[in-house]
Amino acid sequence: MTFMPQSQNTIDPDKLDKLAEVAVKVGLQLQEGQDLVVTAPVVALPLVRLITKHAYQAGAGLVTAFYSDEETTLARYQHGSDESFDRASEWLYEGMAKAYANGAARLAVAGDNPLLLSGQDAGKVGRANRANSAAYKPALEKISNFDINWNIVSYPNPSWAKVVFPDDPEPIAIAKLAKAIFAASRVDVSDPIAAWAEHNANLAKRSAWLNGERFAALHFRGPGTDLTVGLADGHEWHGGASTAKNGVTCNPNIPTEEVFTTPHALRVEGHVSSTKPLSHQGTLIDDIQVHFEGGRIVEAKASRGEEVLNKVLDTDEGARRLGEVALVPHSSPISASGILFYNTLFDENASCHIALGQCYSKCFLNGATLSQEEIKAQGGNSSLIHIDWMIGSNKVDIDGITPDGSRVPVMRQGEWA
Ligand code: ZN
Ligand code: ZN
Repeated sequence: MTFMPQSQNTIDPDKLDKLAEVAVKVGLQLQEGQDLVVTAPVVALPLVRLITKHAYQAGAGLVTAFYSDEETTLARYQHGSDESFDRASEWLYEGMAKAYANGAARLAVAGDNPLLLSGQDAGKVGRANRANSAAYKPALEKISNFDINWNIVSYPNPSWAKVVFPDDPEPIAIAKLAKAIFAASRVDVSDPIAAWAEHNANLAKRSAWLNGERFAALHFRGPGTDLTVGLADGHEWHGGASTAKNGVTCNPNIPTEEVFTTPHALRVEGHVSSTKPLSHQGTLIDDIQVHFEGGRIVEAKASRGEEVLNKVLDTDEGARRLGEVALVPHSSPISASGILFYNTLFDENASCHIALGQCYSKCFLNGATLSQEEIKAQGGNSSLIHIDWMIGSNKVDIDGITPDGSRVPVMRQGEWA
């Protein structure tokens, strides 16, 4: 036998506490008396306890946490009836939608094993995702429409750590992932709240420049990529902190390095190759190559996970069109760490990316006042899904194309021009 230290000891408790504080004060800006709904993997319990403490210290009304567990998820694939894969717990999502409608904030702790479902039947995975997306829609709309303040942070799950650092013993892998999460989340500095204020100001400056330019399209060029992404009419760039419809200015993603906006659902032309693997609900999709015509993906290939990718694209009509385009410099701290996290929250912040599916209504001028019909008329896409995948690298150049057709360099070799 050999002595292995407890995995809890490999996560710095002070930094974990700072992460919880940043989640509540920066990520959510939780308001006095506001209720909070938390979802988390059960192994993230130490972080959820600290979040709950900081939430009540900030004056939270009622904090309610829901937990998931990887073994429990797998048990369905091993022993569940075939019919179970077309079902989801609608009552739970209806309850969450009701909580958000009544003003509750939403905090998700991410960190599940990105490969959890990679050995399972792709058809069942696809059906379960589809049923879940449909059931989740009423709650997800409150989030994607930015009705409420919401935030995602991550916890270094042992199973996730082993995917990111497969050659290290588990405690070392957890320690390395914890360190990377704390650095990317800017809680490894003496004053994380001040560090976030400075970071938000920098992202706001980039968004303001792009909003001033009012490009009609962005043109991406790189290995395997020649893609023109038309931007939606009246699109607006956002980055860092932004204000939800309930008036609360929050940081939905921690970490975040992106500035992003809404593409035009009908004006995307050309081909694009992914530059990092996409981890989608337990499966890995690698070397994605797609071809767009009139905004629609007409051909999709992948060296790994192609079947899952094509099932995702068949979710609904909007799943084949873009709902987001985002710019991230190649020198971003997450990219500079050189770590592939197999987690979109991190990997999307290492690279320029596009997202299939649902657009964010806040990425329109006066987005909060636009109806669904108006958003659609301006080119906003709608879908049950929103899946980000990475298309940027130090080999990709981006030009902005103005309404009169002239070109402005936006990025060269992955850096702001
Ligand atoms: Zn994004
Ligand atoms: Zn996205």
